[in-house]
Amino acid sequence: MKKEPRFSIAVLPGDGIGPEIVASCLEVLAALHERLGGITLDYRHIEGGAAHYQKTGTAFSADSLEQCRQADAVLFGAIGLPDVRYPDGTEISTQFDLRFELDLYAGLRPIRSYPCLPRVLVDPRGAQIDLVIVREQTEGLLYSRGRGTLEADSIAHETMKISREGSRRISEFAFRVAERRARSKRRVAHVTCVDKANVLSSMAFFRRVFTEVAGAYTAVRADCAYIDSTAMHLVKAPWDFDVVLTENAFGGILSDLAAGLVGSIGLVPSADIGDRHAVFQPAHGSAPDIAGKGVANPVGQILSAVLMLDWLADRHGEPRLAHGARIIERAVERALTTIRPIEFGGKDGTSAITKAIITQIRKD
Ligand code: ATP
Repeated sequence: MKKEPRFSIAVLPGDGIGPEIVASCLEVLAALHERLGGITLDYRHIEGGAAHYQKTGTAFSADSLEQCRQADAVLFGAIGLPDVRYPDGTEISTQFDLRFELDLYAGLRPIRSYPCLPRVLVDPRGAQIDLVIVREQTEGLLYSRGRGTLEADSIAHETMKISREGSRRISEFAFRVAERRARSKRRVAHVTCVDKANVLSSMAFFRRVFTEVAGAYTAVRADCAYIDSTAMHLVKAPWDFDVVLTENAFGGILSDLAAGLVGSIGLVPSADIGDRHAVFQPAHGSAPDIAGKGVANPVGQILSAVLMLDWLADRHGEPRLAHGARIIERAVERALTTIRPIEFGGKDGTSAITKAIITQIRKD
C-alpha cells in the first residue's frame, strides 16, 4: 500500500499577534485535514523572535535555523517588537535574516479585495482589486541592512545592489506567476516592472535585464513604470495591475499601500520563496498595538498557509494539496460574507473569524 505523504513544517509563531494568528491557522489546517485526509503535515514548533531575544539573548538560534533548513516548508507568524532592539538600535527581524540565509529571493504578496467587505475606494471597481506584488529580496536597497556606514557622525551611506543574475531570476519568477494567474483566473498575463530607471543606473540595469527576460515570454504583456507614478496609479486605478515586479524596499512600500487599498493588511498573505526553501507568513508585522486582545484578523496568516499548500503541491507533485488550498480559499471567501472583522467596523475577532472559516470548510 502506498504510504500517506507527510510534510514537515517548521512553525515559528514569534511575537505580538503571531502566536494568536498561527494558532488560528493551525486550527484551520486541522479542519482541512479532517475534511480531506490523505496528507499529513508534521509540525515542529521552533522558537525565535524579539521576546525570545529578551529572554535568552538570542533572537534565532543556529538550531532553529537548521530546523527551518531541514523542514519541507516554514510557517511564520510575525517577528519584532519596537521596544526590543539589538545594541545598535535595529529591531529583531529574523524574517530578513532568513531571506538571506535560505536565499529566498522572491517575495510574493497577492492582494485582492473581498466585495462583501466595506470598500476603501469609492469607485465600484475597488471590489475587483486582484494583483500580486513580486519583490526581489536578496538585493536592492535592503541588501544594505547591516552594511551601512556612518562617517564621523556626519554622513551615512547605504548601497543598492542589483545583479544581472538576481534581476534575471526574479524577472523569470514574475513572468511565471503571471502565466499561472492567466491560467487559473483566465485573465491576460501582465507584468509591470517598477523602478527608478530615469535616475538610478542600478535601476536602469534592473529594467534592462527585465526587458531581456520579457523577450522569452511573448504571451505575457510586459511594461515598465517609475515607482513614484506607480504609487499614484495604484491608488487611482489598482484594477489596472496584474503582477508588479520591483526591488526589495520599493516592494515593501507598495505592498503596504496596496494592502491599505483593500481595507486591511490583516487580509494579505505573503511567501518568501527560493529554489529550495520557502517561508510563509502574513504581510503584516507583529502588531503589538492589538496583541493579546483577540482582535487580530487571521486571514493573512491562513492565506499564507494556502500559498504554502500550493508551493508544496507544485514542488512534490501532490494535487491534493492544491485541492486543499482551494477549499481554504473558498472557505475564507464565504466566511467573509457572514462576518465582519473588527478593523472593518465589525465585532468579529480572531476566534469568530476562525470558526466561520472552519464552518465553511466543513460545508464545502
Ligand atoms: P513591520 O514593520 O514589522 O511590517 P509595522 O510596524 O509596519 O510592522 P504592523 O504590525 O504590520 O506594523 O501593523 C500595522 C497596523 O496594522 C497596526 O495598526 C496593526 O494593528 C494593524 N494590523 C496588522 N496586522 C493586523 C491583523 N492581522 N489584523 C488587524 N490589524 C492588523
